[in-house]
Amino acid sequence: FAIKEFLDQYVIGQDQAKVMLSVAIVNHYKRIHKTGAGPEMVKANVLMMGPTGSGKTLLARSVARYLDVPFAIADATSVTEAGYVGDDVESMIGRLYAASGNDIEETQRGIVFIDEIDKISRKSESTSITRDVSGEVVQQALLKLVEGTVCRIPSVGGRKHPNGEMLEIDTTNILFIAGGAFVGLDQVIKNRVQGTSIGFQATVEMARDATLNQAVPDDLVRYGMIPEFVGRFPNWVSLQELSQQDMINILTGVKNNYVDQYCWLFEQDGVKLNFTPDALELVAQRTLKTHTGARGLHSELERVLLPHMFRLKRYARSGIKCVEINRELVNNPTALKDAA
Ligand code: ADP
Repeated sequence: FAIKEFLDQYVIGQDQAKVMLSVAIVNHYKRIHKTGAGPEMVKANVLMMGPTGSGKTLLARSVARYLDVPFAIADATSVTEAGYVGDDVESMIGRLYAASGNDIEETQRGIVFIDEIDKISRKSESTSITRDVSGEVVQQALLKLVEGTVCRIPSVGGRKHPNGEMLEIDTTNILFIAGGAFVGLDQVIKNRVQGTSIGFQATVEMARDATLNQAVPDDLVRYGMIPEFVGRFPNWVSLQELSQQDMINILTGVKNNYVDQYCWLFEQDGVKLNFTPDALELVAQRTLKTHTGARGLHSELERVLLPHMFRLKRYARSGIKCVEINRELVNNPTALKDAA
């Protein structure tokens, strides 16, 4: 439960995901440290499904921070078969090795976050036509890696070096956390639920509210993930779309939140920065409209604060000690211009 409390400091909401991750992590490290008798344990990697900007990467990163293990982010869409232009799967481990400060032992107990895992689904229309590598091949390539294998990475970081030494890294104890938005998976679930027993009012309603929560492995296979791949990620959880209140909490409530960061920037010039509560509300509302999740908060704040940051020195010189952002200034950031 210490893990969940730790995560609460950095991540707003997503309780289901936090609970699942906490359990998965504890089990994972029990498995690693298992000594003596007992059943042979199979690694259980983690799959997080949820809209973009809802905290998938943040959760994975926070877990790694809590455990104090190396952490690397890889993008599934940049992975190709060895030999094609792009990264091969070993480069993920190479990145983890770099994050560990070139320590093999540390690397072997690290965490790799594989983003956009849904984009390598078999029939994915989102894969760009300029790519000639099918998602299935990439899934196959990833399979061995996430399951546990010994892979060889160049000891001098980056690209394969013709004469460079190769290092052997065992991925058996590396935890893989995969994340993806899985756009369209809800439709797959709906079709399944509807197909099973047509006509019952209850199922019709169930189908209408189908959420990623109700996904079963078969849905993912129908979505285009190969069954073996789905089998390697038995820990599943779906993240919720963030609400307006979540957005406000992210702005002001978490450690290192955006508002604190900007306040600090303003303070460097001796100016206090304040937001009225309804201004924060409006920032959250406007960000929700962009459908970028909490990621959009940053650019929204930047938009609102830019004219003031541009004039900060002038404010300071003319004795303005405090800037208060209200609803008007969110809608029209330059409104203060004449006053300053
Ligand atoms: P994704 O789900 O697409 O991986 P990220 O985890 O990268 O999204 O989120 C992007 C940014 O938005 C993070 O750096 C973080 O600042 C913020 N964020 C997203 N979700 C949350 C959350 N639940 N709590 C706090 N911050 C969040």
